[in-house]
Amino acid sequence: MYNPKSHKAEEFICHQEVLDTLEYAEKNKNNIEVIDKILAKARLKKGLTHREAAVLLDCEIEEKNKEIFDLAMEIKQDYYGNRIVLFAPLYLSNYCVNGCVYCPYHHQNKHIPRRKLTQEEIKNEVIALQDMGHKRLAIESGEDPVNNPIEYILESLKTIYSVKHKNGAIRRVNVNIAATTVENYRKLHEAGIGTYVLFQETYNKETYERLHPTGPKHNYAYHTEAMDRAMEAGIDDVSLGVLFGLELYRYEFTALMMHAEHLEAAFGVGPHAISVPRIKKADDIDPSAFDNGIDDDTFAKIVACIRIATPYTGMIISTRESEQCRERLLKLGISQMSGGSKTSVGGYFNPMPEDEESSQFDISDRRPLDEVIKWLMELGYLPSFCTACYRAGRTGERFMEVCKQQQIHNFCHPNAIITLKEYLEDYASTETKTLGEKFIQHEMDILESGEKIKHAVEEDLVKIEHGERDFRF
Ligand code: SAM
Repeated sequence: MYNPKSHKAEEFICHQEVLDTLEYAEKNKNNIEVIDKILAKARLKKGLTHREAAVLLDCEIEEKNKEIFDLAMEIKQDYYGNRIVLFAPLYLSNYCVNGCVYCPYHHQNKHIPRRKLTQEEIKNEVIALQDMGHKRLAIESGEDPVNNPIEYILESLKTIYSVKHKNGAIRRVNVNIAATTVENYRKLHEAGIGTYVLFQETYNKETYERLHPTGPKHNYAYHTEAMDRAMEAGIDDVSLGVLFGLELYRYEFTALMMHAEHLEAAFGVGPHAISVPRIKKADDIDPSAFDNGIDDDTFAKIVACIRIATPYTGMIISTRESEQCRERLLKLGISQMSGGSKTSVGGYFNPMPEDEESSQFDISDRRPLDEVIKWLMELGYLPSFCTACYRAGRTGERFMEVCKQQQIHNFCHPNAIITLKEYLEDYASTETKTLGEKFIQHEMDILESGEKIKHAVEEDLVKIEHGERDFRF
C-alpha cells in the first residue's frame, strides 16, 4: 500500500507505514547499534529516510542526542553558512469559508473584523514593507471563492511586484493560499510566484477531518495532494509544514518526512523549504484546547532531526516564536525567518489597536525588523535579503543540484553581503548601520568564493554606496 511514487495521498502518506515507523522507532530508541548506524549515514550529510529520522527523534540516549544536535549544527553550517534570509507575511484577506477549529478566520467566528485589501491598500502595505527594508514577502489569504478568487490573488501579485517606492522593490512573492486546481497553480506560476506554501496542518486523516469539519478544506486527499498539482503545473519550489500541537508530534514528523520523500521520488525534487509553526493563541482560539502541544526541548529536537534528514531543504521559523526560542533554533537548522511581521489584514500601513483583533494569531517576537537585523549580526548571523536564485531560474531541480554540490555558498554568500549592504544604505538605524559595515568587512575577509567573485562584490559594494541597486550573482 505504501508507495512514495504514487500521487494518491493514502499511498504516499500511508497511515499504516506511519504507525509501523513509530513502532520501529519506539523499539530502537535505546538501541545504540541501530542509532550509531543511522548517525554514520547522517554524517554523509545526504539525508535520511523517514524511518531513520524517526529513530533519531525518539532516541533517549543522552550522549547520542548530543551527537544529533552537534551534527544538525554542522550540517546547517555546511549548507547554509551563517546566512539567514528575511521575509514578511502580507495578509490580503481574512474572509474564509472553512471551519478550521484552530484558526480564528473560521467562518463561524462572527466577532473578528473581516477585511479584504483593495489594490490601493495593497500598494500602501507594500510601501510600508519596502520602507522597512523587505524584499521578499509571503502573501496569506483565507479561502473564499467569492471574496478571494484566484483573479484577486493574481491581481494582487501584479500590484505587489509593480510598486517601486524610493529604492524599494519586492523581488520575490511566495504564496500561501488554500489548495487549488492545476489550472490555478499554472496561473500562479505564470504570475511569477516564488514558493508555493501550504501547511498540511496535520497528516493524520481522522484528526484532519475532525479539525476541518466544514468547507473545501475538509477534503484530506485534495489538501494532501496539493503539492503534486502545484508541481504538475510547473511550480517547482514548494514549501511544506505542519501545525505542531494538533496531533502527536511523532506522527506529524514521520509523515512530514514521508511527504518530502514523496516529492523527491515522484518529481525528482524535494521541498524547497519546511516550516515549523506551533499553534498559538488567537481570537476565539485557546491553544490549551489542543492537547498535543510540544515543549521547547521537543521542538528543538524536531528542528535538529529535520535538518539532518533533509539537508537540502530550507527551514523557516516565524514570529509565532519568541526571540529566545528563535535564537536556539537558528543554530540547529533554521535558514529563513520572518521579521517585523503583522498578522492582521492591513497591519503594516495603518496599525490600529483593533488590528490586534483581526490578527490571525498572537505574535511572540514583536521587534521591528531593524532590531532583528542588529540582533542577528550580534549573534554572528549574516542577514540576507537575497532573491537571486529564483530570479536567475535556479529553482526546483536546478537549485537542488547547486545545493547538493554545496555550491550554494558561491552564490548565496556574495548575494547576502550585497543585499545587506543595500539594507544598511537605505533602511538601517545608525547603530545597525555601524555594526553592519563592520560585519560586511568581516564577511568579505572570509569570503570563500575566489578572487574574481570577491573583486566583483567589492565593486558592487562601492556602486551601492553611490546609489546603484539590485546586483546579484
Ligand atoms: N488559508 C490558507 C490555507 O488554508 O492553507 C493558508 C493561509 S493561513 C493564513 C496560514 C497558516 O496559519 C495555516 O496554514 C495554519 O497552519 C496557520 N494557523 C492558523 N491558525 C493558527 C493559530 N491559531 N496559531 C498558529 N498558526 C495558525
